Amino acid sequence: MKILNVDQIRALDQATIQHEPIAPLNLMERAAQGFVEWFAARYPNTSPIKIFCGLGNNGGDGMAIARLLLERHYTLDIYVVRYAPRESDDFMHNHRRLKLITEQVSYIELSTDIPAIRHNEIVIDAILGSGLSRPAEGIIRSTIEAINRAPATVISVDIASGLFADKPNRPDDVIIEPDHTVTFQLPKLAFVLPRNGRYVGEWHLVNIQLNKRYIDLAPTPYYYTTPHEARLLLHKRDRFSHKGTYGHALLLVGSYGKIGAAVLASRACLRSGVGLLTVQVPRCGYSVLQTAVPEAMCRPDGHQYVLTGQSEVESPAPAEYSTVGIGPGIGKAPETLAMLRELLPTLKKPIVLDADALNLLAEHRELLDILPHNSILTPHPKEFERLTQPWADDYEKLNSLQAFAKRYRVVVILKGAFTAVATPDGEVHFNSTGNPGLSTGGTGDVLTGVLTALLAQGYDSVEAAVLGVFAHGLAGDRAADQRGPIGMVASDVIDALRWD
Ligand code: ATP
Ligand code: MG
Repeated sequence: MKILNVDQIRALDQATIQHEPIAPLNLMERAAQGFVEWFAARYPNTSPIKIFCGLGNNGGDGMAIARLLLERHYTLDIYVVRYAPRESDDFMHNHRRLKLITEQVSYIELSTDIPAIRHNEIVIDAILGSGLSRPAEGIIRSTIEAINRAPATVISVDIASGLFADKPNRPDDVIIEPDHTVTFQLPKLAFVLPRNGRYVGEWHLVNIQLNKRYIDLAPTPYYYTTPHEARLLLHKRDRFSHKGTYGHALLLVGSYGKIGAAVLASRACLRSGVGLLTVQVPRCGYSVLQTAVPEAMCRPDGHQYVLTGQSEVESPAPAEYSTVGIGPGIGKAPETLAMLRELLPTLKKPIVLDADALNLLAEHRELLDILPHNSILTPHPKEFERLTQPWADDYEKLNSLQAFAKRYRVVVILKGAFTAVATPDGEVHFNSTGNPGLSTGGTGDVLTGVLTALLAQGYDSVEAAVLGVFAHGLAGDRAADQRGPIGMVASDVIDALRWD
């Protein structure tokens, strides 16, 4: 699913108006209906509602929503925040229509006009929309502050008032902090960026049949992976296949004290469809791995604490495997660095790099230039910061993510809520699965195992990254259903992996 910018969303409305064709007012009515259907399904017989409307098109949506809610016999107090000299045409029309069925519209011009909001009430915020051109000021600012102080449930229409849809706000901007945002058709870039979390809440899409052709043709680097799209990426297994069909992966993982990372990555790799798996661990991890993961072959490293790339047992060179996954638990000993230096130039196919492999790349940047193209890097934000530089805001971080992936021709998976997968072509795919229960040690190691398995099976790097991140997050969601987000651990995520 595409994520479009504000100008494109405006043009999309216009395209719908022209080509359907539909009158602008009727499109606004459709949006209001969509919102009210969402609302009625969620709050079938609810406590009192207060709706706050601005004077622009978001306020117009609000006026129409108020009318439709009254028709459904909800108890409603309606407020118009009067701040600008001019009202939008669609606002005026919907204001007039509303006044035909109720006299109960109040106007907020001074702080003293702002009503008290009680905890059992629901507030609908239709003050400012995505057309916002400057931060909220004056009476709007005071109204937003009052709503944020209130103990009520807050639902924003389209986008929280005061939040920019696709550019950074200033730190002292006043913005609604909703519990829910109900938006139309497509998500906005602002919704998937971590620093906006409290200005978005849970967000929901309402389909209002905007022009499909415009969406298909609109250029954008930003995508949001839907379950349907993820499922299309999945390769089916052929009846006459054999384990050789699904590749032989090599994992270089673990060090003294971190053999658990090796076990987790190995199990996850096997649970993600790899044909054969060989795991290289330091000698101290040998019997642990052979016991914990009997399905994997093990090449013990000759050394006690670190991984050196030479195995004690006769086995093929790393380049002969379908792919290599390297990093979880390896540490940063000089021998490990030396191994990376030696290993990287020999590899011609894309590999997966995580954890201390990334930290070593950050400290020895010349290694970045010898990465096999289309390799997958899986930093969490701190690891990514070491690879680039600190950022002032999420938009700057996104730019540097895109620039990095392009410059080194790699796929970068920036982990977190709505994990971002940046491609060598400069696209970014935001993930739709996962939950805060995944914020626990070892889930990153699981992801490395998953991705290594997909590369070994012949997925191209971008597909492997988008699908792997989706499936890992979905497994996290299943684990959270079973154990709750607080009780779940990385092993639960492995157990919950499913590929259908
Ligand atoms: P590890 O302990 O295995 O090394 P890590 O430090 O490499 O983990 P984390 O940042 O802990 O990586 O993230 C691990 C995984 O959990 C990633 O796939 C990430 O996207 C996911 N995750 C973490 N926090 C959240 C969250 N709040 N919402 C959704 N997913 C999350
Ligand atoms: Mg990690």
